[in-house]
Amino acid sequence: MKKPTIFNIQKFSTHDGPGIRTTIFFKGCPIRCEWCHNPESQAYAPEIMLNKYGKEETIGKDYSLRELVKKIQADQIFYDQSGGGVTFSGGEVMAQDMDYVVELAKECQRLGISVAIDTCGVAPTENYRQILPYADLFLYDLKFMDSHNHKLYTGVGNQLVLENLRFLSQQQAEINLRLILLDDVNAAKVDAEAIIEWLAKEKIHVSEISLLPYHDFGRDKYERLKRVCTQNFKKPSEEQVEALQKVYQDAGYQVTIGG
Ligand code: SF4
Repeated sequence: MKKPTIFNIQKFSTHDGPGIRTTIFFKGCPIRCEWCHNPESQAYAPEIMLNKYGKEETIGKDYSLRELVKKIQADQIFYDQSGGGVTFSGGEVMAQDMDYVVELAKECQRLGISVAIDTCGVAPTENYRQILPYADLFLYDLKFMDSHNHKLYTGVGNQLVLENLRFLSQQQAEINLRLILLDDVNAAKVDAEAIIEWLAKEKIHVSEISLLPYHDFGRDKYERLKRVCTQNFKKPSEEQVEALQKVYQDAGYQVTIGG
């Protein structure tokens, strides 16, 4: 079983699922979203990044299963009191060594800790099949219904993303669909209508939709990694986001704004 590289362990997180959570950020992602605000999550291996004071720091540390379980278990009292748990995020947790990820989720389940999986959907369907018995919730990103645009902005088409979403829904997984919103790119009414139409056609059941307006908080990280940030996106206005919220609500979905 290969130890994964973890680049952040965020305690008392309230944006990655219900209640108070610990979010584990696995390092390594198979796609390259142009708007990514965690560029240090993309490469699988540890790397050097300058900190805010200009000093070099190694990002990413390998954790044994036992070490990670200990970190997660430390805040179990808060999960129990708030209905929270642990969220495996990234990078892309579903594109890691699945023997490790499944064992970790299994151990959390044995300890009575609820597990959420935050995923971009780009991983073998078999990986989702393996994690399914141990995951209580999937935070599932859907970026574009149009595969050409998906490829243009992330480097890969959306076929696997849609296939895995269909699979999880068929298996009656609890799904929170998370939609990044970029003005002039995927935040128009027609984009929302295309998603609603597809969900209805495919009979996909999602318990909630989260609208996530783009922000550029991660720009400086590219420089600190000695990379060039090419992001040139606009955040949609509040009115635009609220109008989209209404479109989804009118279609019968429970919708929140923000993670
Ligand atoms: S899926 Fe997430 S971590 Fe991967 S490139 Fe896109 S935004 Fe970044």
